[in-house]
Amino acid sequence: MNDLLRHFRSKQLETETEKVFDTQCPFCSVQCKMQLIEQRNGERKRYKVVPMPNPASEGRLCIKGRNAYQHAVTKERVKQPLLNVNGAFVPVSWSEALQIIKEKFTAIQQEDGYNALGVYGGGSLTNEEAYLLGKFARVALQTKYIDYNGRFCMSAAASAANQAFGIDRGLTNQLSEILQARCIILAGTNIAECQPTLMPYFTKARENGAFIIVIDPRETTTAKLADLHLKIKPGTDAALANGMLKVLLDEGLVEQKFIQERTNGYEELKQHLASIRLDQIEEITGITVEQIRKAAVTYGAAQTGMVFTARGVEQQTDGYMTVRNFINLSLITGKIGRIGCGYGAITGQGNGQGGREHGQKADQLPGYRSIENPEHRAYIAKLWGINEQDLPGKGVSAYEMMEKIYQKEITGLFVMGSNPVVSNPNANFVEEGLQKLKFLVVVDMFISETGRMADLILPCSSYLEDEGTMTNLEGRVILRKAGRTPPGEAKHDWEILCDIAQALGKERFFSYSSAEEIFNELRMASRGGTADYYGITYNRLTQEEGVYWPCPSPDHPGEARLFEHSFAHADGRAKIIPVENQHVKEQITEEFPLYLTTGRVLTQYLTGVQTRRSHTLAASHFESFLEIHPKTAKKYRIENESLVKLESERGSVTVRSKLTPDIREDTVFVPMHWGDMQSVNKVTHQALDPYCKMPGFKVCAVKIKPLVDLQLE
Ligand code: SF4
Repeated sequence: MNDLLRHFRSKQLETETEKVFDTQCPFCSVQCKMQLIEQRNGERKRYKVVPMPNPASEGRLCIKGRNAYQHAVTKERVKQPLLNVNGAFVPVSWSEALQIIKEKFTAIQQEDGYNALGVYGGGSLTNEEAYLLGKFARVALQTKYIDYNGRFCMSAAASAANQAFGIDRGLTNQLSEILQARCIILAGTNIAECQPTLMPYFTKARENGAFIIVIDPRETTTAKLADLHLKIKPGTDAALANGMLKVLLDEGLVEQKFIQERTNGYEELKQHLASIRLDQIEEITGITVEQIRKAAVTYGAAQTGMVFTARGVEQQTDGYMTVRNFINLSLITGKIGRIGCGYGAITGQGNGQGGREHGQKADQLPGYRSIENPEHRAYIAKLWGINEQDLPGKGVSAYEMMEKIYQKEITGLFVMGSNPVVSNPNANFVEEGLQKLKFLVVVDMFISETGRMADLILPCSSYLEDEGTMTNLEGRVILRKAGRTPPGEAKHDWEILCDIAQALGKERFFSYSSAEEIFNELRMASRGGTADYYGITYNRLTQEEGVYWPCPSPDHPGEARLFEHSFAHADGRAKIIPVENQHVKEQITEEFPLYLTTGRVLTQYLTGVQTRRSHTLAASHFESFLEIHPKTAKKYRIENESLVKLESERGSVTVRSKLTPDIREDTVFVPMHWGDMQSVNKVTHQALDPYCKMPGFKVCAVKIKPLVDLQLE
């Protein structure tokens, strides 16, 4: 009996020292749910992560999610505002920090004008914080210059979906419908490494009989699943889609009734394709006519089919048009708006979807409203309690803001949830520009590469501490709970925005006491807009397992499958457009004879600010690398695992070689998660897609040299 009592008491003691936090992964767009269990034994703490059931990941967690807590609990967190004094960061109080911001921002705007301040956000912020950042720029700072790193993530697919369908929601169907698709095209998406918990949907679909086509210059882990891998020459995806469209037309594998009743533009596409020759497409893309036919006929003949695109085809200077051409495949075959048929952009960032809907884009107001539409402006101005004339107009895209900084048109910058000096293309130019700023404020959990250049760093809370909503890649809004207390004096992003607004005398527009209060304002701001969240409440999100937008009223179930009866354009029809084979991209030359393409690896996320601080994730990939075909390596006398200088006209990096036959012989690959001398964006090209301003990260011309050669020179 005594033993039993002792056992019971010791168990009780254990539970008294154990805290359980319900949360979700801060990284990719699946937003897998989990519990973090924190066990304290004296001064020592141990952590356990338990995956939790949820409709998107079905209870799965990948290595990034399992180890995400490590960056949140590390001692490296910034815990106090830090002021840069002659190159050294000195802790200051919040009141000192706010006073400095007030003085500097006011002086900059007096000397250089309201638009001399820029705001740079991120696609991992919660919906509430993305919304508030847009309001902060336009109401507290009255500047038109706001954009965010999601420009580099989703702008091509978002613009294409808006133009083709009249609405931009990542997936037109819920993830579970992948199992019903009989042919799946994965264009430029390495799901196995970027959204690993989605892979079982595709493996199960294949078991159900789906034929999987992967389009990628590399034989990635995702490509290994494919029935047909099209190892395409970088940057020629639009041409490949033209070849497939041509075959569909020639073989009569088009859905005439659907085209006639639900689309516009088919005749123009037909005329355009009449001049396309498949042998030319083979020459452009490196994909044989036979393979093009096989892909097109299999997709066209399948009863159901889904097309997915991601950064591989989107991060191009013709990314917008390329995505339009892949959407053309869905439209002319009528494979959209029914079960197992649809289009999806596999979003990268955790809140890549919600972060682009509520106003941190240069041309956008909440609810996907346009900043150039007088009615939309009037609606938001009224809600915010300002005059419509005081609402600034359209700004410029993320990289164009860097150009304005370089030209000293923007002289003060406020960065929240982003690391622009590593994530922008042409990073040497970006770094030089940031050095010219009169005042740089960075809000971050860590001293990132951009933070190192800041005049002031403000410490913010992590995903374990900051409650708010995220919208996953399906368009499902999910409530992320957060029960942990931020370390030291770190604050939530929304609290920081409110404090600065107060210091600037704008507190009456920014008096919130919780994330939920901000969400309720966001609901009103999005009401009647394209991305309508009005019917979604914290209460519903707690009761239900997320709610899809559009959700215009509290009794609306949310739309899981879009376009069953109508597209979102005024006439209810989708738009088909002809797309040229290839837009201008940097071509390889005698001096720069190889294509460079960039991407991600399983254990890292974005510029690695968080994942490089997780010891388990850092140990898996502690440095960058250059993937190169053995034949190409031999030609340039490069040994496996040796240091290589990679150079373009913009700059150079040093990376370790990794020889693999999985990549094309004319192409090398370097991931984008590292900074400083391994920051691949020092090499990438600054050219932007003219329509959506996406940089062409995925194609640039480079040369390589073993480092040993350089040492001998
Ligand atoms: Fe899930 Fe993505 Fe996080 Fe992995 S990184 S656990 S797939 S949300």
